[in-house]
Amino acid sequence: MTTKVTLDMEKCCGYGICAEICPSVFKLDDQGFVYVDSNVVPEGEVDAAQEAADACPELVIDLHTS
Ligand code: SF4
Repeated sequence: MTTKVTLDMEKCCGYGICAEICPSVFKLDDQGFVYVDSNVVPEGEVDAAQEAADACPELVIDLHTS
């Protein structure tokens, strides 16, 4: 199974909560907005990535497993 992340960037307000919870997946750019190096979430990071998605106040982060 592969888990992929989609970001609805227009909604990101740069709170940085995602990067605090799961820094190996969610990075912040110079302006504090989220980005990912890869949209594939490493297996061991899926729970943390989901926690980050649930914690995002703007619901920017969507995870899909297939
Ligand atoms: S928690 Fe949500 S709004 Fe905040 S930086 Fe991460 S994706 Fe953007």
